[in-house]
Amino acid sequence: MGGQRQVSLAGALGGRGKQLAVTPRTPRRNLKRQTEAREGFISMARARRILHIDMDAYFAALEAQACPSLAGVPLVVGALPGSRGVVASASYEARAFGIRAGMPVAQAQRMAPQVQFVSCHPSLYIHTSRLILKHLLETTSQVEMFSIDEAYLDITDLLSRDPADPASWKQIEALAHEISGSIERRFCLTCSVGAGPNKLIAKMASKVKKPRGVTLLGNDCFRRRFWSKPVEVLYGVGKKTASSLMIFGIETIGELAEASVEFLQRHFGLYGTALHAMAWGQDESSIVPSHAAPPAKSLGHEHTLQSDLHSPAEGEALLLALADRVGEDLRCEGYAGRRVAIRVRHSDFSNLTRQRMLEGPTQETRDIYRGARDLFRANYCGDGIRLLGITVGDLIPTRGREQLKLFPEDRRYRDLLATLDRIRDQYGRCSIFPAGALRQVRHRGQGITPRVTRRHGAHVPAPPPAASIPTGRRDDHAPEA
Ligand SMILES: [Mg+2]
Repeated sequence: MGGQRQVSLAGALGGRGKQLAVTPRTPRRNLKRQTEAREGFISMARARRILHIDMDAYFAALEAQACPSLAGVPLVVGALPGSRGVVASASYEARAFGIRAGMPVAQAQRMAPQVQFVSCHPSLYIHTSRLILKHLLETTSQVEMFSIDEAYLDITDLLSRDPADPASWKQIEALAHEISGSIERRFCLTCSVGAGPNKLIAKMASKVKKPRGVTLLGNDCFRRRFWSKPVEVLYGVGKKTASSLMIFGIETIGELAEASVEFLQRHFGLYGTALHAMAWGQDESSIVPSHAAPPAKSLGHEHTLQSDLHSPAEGEALLLALADRVGEDLRCEGYAGRRVAIRVRHSDFSNLTRQRMLEGPTQETRDIYRGARDLFRANYCGDGIRLLGITVGDLIPTRGREQLKLFPEDRRYRDLLATLDRIRDQYGRCSIFPAGALRQVRHRGQGITPRVTRRHGAHVPAPPPAASIPTGRRDDHAPEA
């Protein structure tokens, strides 16, 4: 789990990088001077203290809570054995066998045949996540839900001492324990907490001790602890970047820090500048409070099938189930959209995306379905289908500007949708669905647990979607997606 990283380029793009530029392989004697110069810069900036809360094996812990017989046993949440899906979350008992999120379930089963497999229940995870956010907001309003089970808190203003004062770390530690304890008491869930001068260091600190850990890292500690580690350990650096860096002889975070900004810029562009700043534990991005999240630009769902579809009727049944989900999300979040797009991935992994404009903004299932169905029919080529998705874009907020329905049948349909939403709110998403979508469920013997897609406005660094839930479908982790 986790989300898109947000490293500020502002600091890295300042003049400081030029002053400190060295040859790609900086001699060690220059390193001390370079460090001092950077520390001077850091002390000039406003000192902040950030906590990163990371729930421990969140999905697995919630499933064990819902079914006590699963507590303490090796548990995998995600796709079920025999499917093409992957592990979304593994309990610590399952992790002891080497099972990790993103691993195909078939591989997990081979590694530990005694593991229990449970499918995902996204509505439970989202609901609890919202309760945790509410709970954290009792401590400070500066809370950013970074993903469904991670949050950043800016606690600078809660400290009675100057954050730059070394004695303030005692207060920070007490606060971290207090928050972690209150979450455990309230939700019977454990979390690990990392504290640091910025989001990057806090995030990396929370991974140091898990589960139930509290780790505090200042800039010096960050360097001491991480500079000897491989670059992949640096949050935001993937395998591809790591192998590109290796070509230049950069294997550790320390070596990345020693490389000159110009050198990294030349080979990695703006990302090179960010990489250099990250290696120095620098991140000037601020908390984006969850209540100030930018409005959504589009909302959508997609579903990867366990076995490919080969008839248009089956495709249309799945589209209806997806349109039903998208419509429900739009109504729940108070949006209407005018643009409907479908995404089709065929058996040969070729993708097709088509979109069209509707007559006006809508949040009604039938409008979304008709738009998507027409696109599907116009583009159906007879090939097998492994994934279908619907997205509604060009969103506008609807709160306070609900349109009156002219015709009685339209009013009845709107009332029907409102009733469906209330039923689902009370009894869960799977409690009721359109009869037309039954074909999909009956013929395939599988429920629809689509992957949620959501795009935010680009003007503010977008926090990862609150509803970005790994469902255990392979697509959640597939780089091709
Ligand atoms: Mg977690």
